[in-house]
Amino acid sequence: MTLPRISERVANLEEAQTLGMAQRVRDRRAQGKEVISMLLGEPDFPVPLPIQEAAIAAIREGVAPYPPVAGLLPLREAIAHYYERQYGVPVSPQQVVVSSGSKQAIYNTLLTLLSPGEEVIIPVPYWVSYLPLVYLAEGRPVLVPTSPQTQYRLTPEALEKAITPRTRVLILNSPANPTGTTYTRAELSALIEVLQNHPHVWVLSDEIYDLLSYEERTVSALEFEAVRDRTVVCNGFSKAFAMPGWRLGYLIAPVDIAQAATKVQGQTTAGANIIAQKAALAGLSGDIEALVAPMRKAFEQRRNAIYTYLSTHHPEMHPYKPEGAFYFFLSVAAYLGKKTPHGTLLHTADDVADYLLEEGVAVVPGTGFGMNTHIRISYAVALSEIERGLQRLTQALHALA
Ligand code: PLP
Repeated sequence: MTLPRISERVANLEEAQTLGMAQRVRDRRAQGKEVISMLLGEPDFPVPLPIQEAAIAAIREGVAPYPPVAGLLPLREAIAHYYERQYGVPVSPQQVVVSSGSKQAIYNTLLTLLSPGEEVIIPVPYWVSYLPLVYLAEGRPVLVPTSPQTQYRLTPEALEKAITPRTRVLILNSPANPTGTTYTRAELSALIEVLQNHPHVWVLSDEIYDLLSYEERTVSALEFEAVRDRTVVCNGFSKAFAMPGWRLGYLIAPVDIAQAATKVQGQTTAGANIIAQKAALAGLSGDIEALVAPMRKAFEQRRNAIYTYLSTHHPEMHPYKPEGAFYFFLSVAAYLGKKTPHGTLLHTADDVADYLLEEGVAVVPGTGFGMNTHIRISYAVALSEIERGLQRLTQALHALA
């Protein structure tokens, strides 16, 4: 009998679709083809200067020991202060675990909370990595559809229906990737009310876009005292601080959970890059609003321009004006079943994204987000590029028969 070379767990693991598309864009560009990429969730802004300078100073110190597994204490303190200042909630540094990106913080959380077979409620559409991370942690994802009518918000009724005695975690993400949907205090409050009747359910609140909200300040799940002792917040420095490649994120959890997550991390990555930690500390210690506001303003301008364009030229894509993050999630259902000028039939959003890539504009198909009738476009791209990208998109879609 030949044994499989790759474990079942990993063999079934999906490739991160966004990263796969990014590689295809690189390949096409290497072949000399021009591609406008509206693909990735990484800000097109430089790392803020105080962060850069702190990193250089940390390198010049010349020593780089292994960091404490849970992160440098001053950084954990600064993160705790940030949540206290921003959301008015008490957080102690012992509740904070710094990781190599918030993706790792999410994985640490799931490994810490889930026993095999326990259920994790995930509203659809979802960020691409939730599902694979739940599988890796041997949990069972329970997908709950949402509707464009509620701008893809999970409703209290749908949540109530999805909860079983096996439910362990509800994942919330606000502002959300891929939709930009941002829950108001009243909406979150209604969901929390449901959870009050189900004390065995934990909240994993992914707040990575918390500073990129265009209408009003976001609300943290930690603000709800009723579930604070069973809430884990995951956040990081990849978005508002524009440092995704530095790989730095964190979780905030009740102390026993933070300690258990630290144990996981101690046996896997042993703590996040120490230079990045010192640099991030400089970012959190200064005037955060001054660092983030210019970028947020640019994103808001782009969002408004795209929304105007799409509502005028593509009502069939049902554009929804995102309240936060930097994505539009658009229906391509009107184009499924149509043929490209080369005669290829478009069955799913993957086919649409493949076709658009051939036409020189890269978008992410919604399949990885749980909806194969949609595509996601990112506006972490200069406005001039966005304008050209949208025109290309329109031309390509009009050429379908
Ligand atoms: N959560 C969401 C919703 C995201 O969109 C991303 C990145 O795109 C992450 C988490 C992971 O971010 P990080 O770079 O901190 O691992």
